[in-house]
Amino acid sequence: MKTIRLAHLYPKLLNIYGDGGNIITLKKRCEWRGINIKIDEINISDSIGEHDIYFIGGGQDLQQIEVSVELQKHKDFLTNERERGAVFLGICGGYQLMGHYYQPHNGDRLKGISLLDAYTVAGDRRFIGNVTVETERGTLVGFENHSGLTYLQGETKPLGKVITGNGNNGNDKTEGARYKNVFGTYLHGSFLPKNIKFADYILELALGEKLEPLEDTIENMTHDSLVNKAY
Ligand code: GLN
Repeated sequence: MKTIRLAHLYPKLLNIYGDGGNIITLKKRCEWRGINIKIDEINISDSIGEHDIYFIGGGQDLQQIEVSVELQKHKDFLTNERERGAVFLGICGGYQLMGHYYQPHNGDRLKGISLLDAYTVAGDRRFIGNVTVETERGTLVGFENHSGLTYLQGETKPLGKVITGNGNNGNDKTEGARYKNVFGTYLHGSFLPKNIKFADYILELALGEKLEPLEDTIENMTHDSLVNKAY
């Protein structure tokens, strides 16, 4: 079985509300299956190199400024990686920077890298709380804390329909985004340990093959109780 190469982008700057837990989930769900996984932390000024999965977490507007500037150096490379079929997962602030831009309340517009046909503008209040989302692969659950309002365009489609909470913009009932194998979501919490079926889906896309199921009784009970708590 091949080794999955995972790039954790800018963890020193974009890693709030437990977003590092997404990396731990992918790591453990590979190790439990005997799949090798190599995790590279990519920080400011580092080169990136080819990987199978790219993860970028959330952060405050200030940290997003530095990452926005750095990401521009890698825009062409990461676009080619998207076209090659690499998997991307961006959470909140990282998700916003995978679109065309994020316009915060104060200050200049932050350039994104347009992996998703989406844009974000700061709203006049923060969305904070639990979110549930109905998707074609079942319910997703997580915690949102953002003022950004994200709008999707073109071939970029939502992950699903908001049942509780606000999601992309608190208006059009969409949450998250997908284009090719690029995924974004506002769900912190961490996202993947609360939604392990989605974690396995990410791994299957990266591996290009189905995974053997794991004994997930506790994980599934946890997911279901979080969904019921959020309703
Ligand atoms: N700073 C961005 C916003 O407020 C992203 C926040 C986050 O990543 N939780 O919308």
